[in-house]
Amino acid sequence: MNCPDCQSALPDLLLDPAAPTNAPTRAHIDTCPSCRHELESLQATMSLLDTWEAPNPSPYFDQKLAVLLREEQEKPPAGWFERVRSRLLFNTGRQFRPALAGALGLALLIGGGTFANLSNVHLRKASTSATVTDLQVLDNNDQALQTMDQLFQDENSADEASELPSS
Ligand SMILES: [Zn+2]
Repeated sequence: MNCPDCQSALPDLLLDPAAPTNAPTRAHIDTCPSCRHELESLQATMSLLDTWEAPNPSPYFDQKLAVLLREEQEKPPAGWFERVRSRLLFNTGRQFRPALAGALGLALLIGGGTFANLSNVHLRKASTSATVTDLQVLDNNDQALQTMDQLFQDENSADEASELPSS
């Protein structure tokens, strides 16, 4: 057995160390220090997980939740926009399917299939133009930095030129 095989067999060994199918893994671990180390760290993790306990909920959690639920149920119904929004957000879409199919059929009839393609092209254009804008911004920044470098260089050489006659 080699090390990758051994390490993929380590979970089995951890769950049932005495199983006869784990004999090759045990034999490899007796001879291989790195795999033995791997097994020991897994055992340490497992024993740490054994000591972990799920935290208890805060006192009166159930009561508080029940009160909140009752308050939500007794609230007056939200406005028209809110109701439409929640229906769009949380529905399974089943009741819209006939309408959607009808709209798609209508679009295909009108555009002869070009409608769907056109909307795709529009989306792609928008995404590339965002990328292009970013690149242009980067390019402009680069040009501004180069211009500033040139200005500083010009200034330095002008200073040197003015110093030259006096020396
Ligand atoms: Zn090994």
